[in-house]
Amino acid sequence: MVPDAASVTSSAVQPSSLPAFPALPPLPFLPRRLSAEPPGWVREVDIVVVGSGIAGLTAALECRELGTIMVVTKDEVAAGSTHWAQGGIAWVQAEGDTVQQHIDDTLVAGAGLCIPDAVRVLVTEGPDEVAKLINRGAEFDRDLAGELELTREGGHNRKRIAHAGGDATGAEIERALISAVTADRGIEIVEQALVLDLIPAEVGPNERPAVAGVTLHVLGEGTRGGVGAVHARAIVLATGGIGQIYAVTTNPPVSTGDGVAAALRAGARLRDIEFIQFHPTVLYLGQGARGQLPLVSEAVRGEGGQLVNSRGERFMVGKHPLAELAPRDVVAKQIMKEMAAAGVDHVYVDGRMLGEETWRVRFPTIWHSCRRAGINPATDLIPVAPACHYFCGGVETDIDGATNLAGLYACGEVASSGVHGANRLASNSLLEGLVFARRIAARVRDTPPPRRSPAQDRRKPGLIDRSIVPALQRAMSRHAGGLRDAAGLDQCVSELAELARQVAVEPGLESWEASNMMTVAAAIVASARLREESRGAHWRDDFEERREIWRGHLLVEHDDQQGLRHHFVPARSTNPDGRSDRQ
Ligand SMILES: Cc1cc2nc3c(=O)[nH]c(=O)nc-3n(C[C@H](O)[C@H](O)[C@H](O)COP(=O)(O)OP(=O)(O)OC[C@H]3O[C@@H](n4cnc5c(N)ncnc54)[C@H](O)[C@@H]3O)c2cc1C
Repeated sequence: MVPDAASVTSSAVQPSSLPAFPALPPLPFLPRRLSAEPPGWVREVDIVVVGSGIAGLTAALECRELGTIMVVTKDEVAAGSTHWAQGGIAWVQAEGDTVQQHIDDTLVAGAGLCIPDAVRVLVTEGPDEVAKLINRGAEFDRDLAGELELTREGGHNRKRIAHAGGDATGAEIERALISAVTADRGIEIVEQALVLDLIPAEVGPNERPAVAGVTLHVLGEGTRGGVGAVHARAIVLATGGIGQIYAVTTNPPVSTGDGVAAALRAGARLRDIEFIQFHPTVLYLGQGARGQLPLVSEAVRGEGGQLVNSRGERFMVGKHPLAELAPRDVVAKQIMKEMAAAGVDHVYVDGRMLGEETWRVRFPTIWHSCRRAGINPATDLIPVAPACHYFCGGVETDIDGATNLAGLYACGEVASSGVHGANRLASNSLLEGLVFARRIAARVRDTPPPRRSPAQDRRKPGLIDRSIVPALQRAMSRHAGGLRDAAGLDQCVSELAELARQVAVEPGLESWEASNMMTVAAAIVASARLREESRGAHWRDDFEERREIWRGHLLVEHDDQQGLRHHFVPARSTNPDGRSDRQ
């Protein structure tokens, strides 16, 4: 179980081995609760799942026998990142591959901050959960003999990644899960339902803080239109990532960090949020391109594609034993160095050797994205640059997806289950969504949370104007992206603080999202400023080395006096890449 806040505070604030945390510049005002009209309707269910990607839909299916289930999702069901996943899903299946090898690859990518028990759970339970997904109707690509076709991606020392529809793995998984959930009359799905906040619950004097449901805004007519409340025994957050806080990202428009912000406001702890993976190869569409951009999957390199600079030279050879298939942070940093050295804003993937047929059959999504941009991958180099891709940290959970707030669980990209550490191994996140959603269901079944009465919500409401979003994204990309330093991060905090002054007059979808983006951005910048080292996906130009004293987790909580409060918890493993935790 996640320890309660008091024990973390007393045992784990800055250890004496660590140099004093640098004083943070003043943090912007962060709303304690989103301004909205009071709920005009209330629904009671047993379990409310927030989000309908791989994590949310799997949680709903797995919780099916435990009572009434409602899935609320802020857009159409398929609008999350899951639909866009290309490369595939990793699990141990090929002859010669072993659980220990997959664990080792995950730990190495995680740069000393993976939680070894969580990684072991992921890798050992993953195969059964994928088998269930296949039973639920997901069809992966197979060869003529009916065997799964496997590929490799960055950081994997084995071919262990299965894919579907060539490079449309997420779309196939989402299709299968939607069809399983909609066929189940016991699961209610409410679309266009944006969760605003978690509702605090009444608790006894010696109980830890708890939640009793969510407030949400539902677009549409009838009794469920407008702002309402859903009360539940268990709330499962599965709201995905935060990519939209950056100017360019692979994430869809719904990835505005709402679940992270709501959890923080409610008193949940966040962990390792400074680790944000920038995908090294996102299609470069010119300097003015903004928002969600097409990915050129690592699997292209897995099939033989190469990275070349503007002189046509391969630059990953000699930089890492796996060359183009080095872990993502290594490749992204090397690309950024190449770009800085040459004064250009992109490099190239050379996939011409794959030939048109392979491109069309194996990578139809990428082929079409390139063709739409006037590039023929069979004859042209593909311009690429890094963009925000994956939120490695998130809402701190234990190995069963439980948070420090009673009644609140989290799984998928919104959660920090501990499997990714400082950097996610490619194709482990879909697997994480399956495994930890199932574990939440088991936990709720074995230790059913009681139904709690909502407490009076005394948190001060606030709202930031939607007009700040482009400037927030620019500030984050310029100062808190793949390359960071103290001066830039301080500048970023100042810019965010200035933007946060722009208070919204009228509540509405865009200002709720803008307020969430501000909360998440401020928390990320604060953590990135404190961590004075380079590790995994967090790269500080002013502290270029990995530092042993920093091998631990930064936890963040909302604090009424200080804005945000940080604690440092040393990592449990003893070896820098976590491997000494082998069992
Ligand atoms: C382009 C791309 C390619 C990728 N390729 C791979 C890959 O090959 N392999 C791999 O393992 N991973 C890959 N990933 C990562 C992986 O897809 C995601 O980490 C994973 O799908 C996240 O699943 P999820 O269920 O946690 O969140 P999502 O699928 O993002 O779903 C989040 C859900 O929450 C909803 N939501 C958000 N806020 C609210 C709110 N306030 N109220 C109500 N609902 C809300 C959203 O609408 C959505 O339904 C890729 C990601 C991208 C973007």
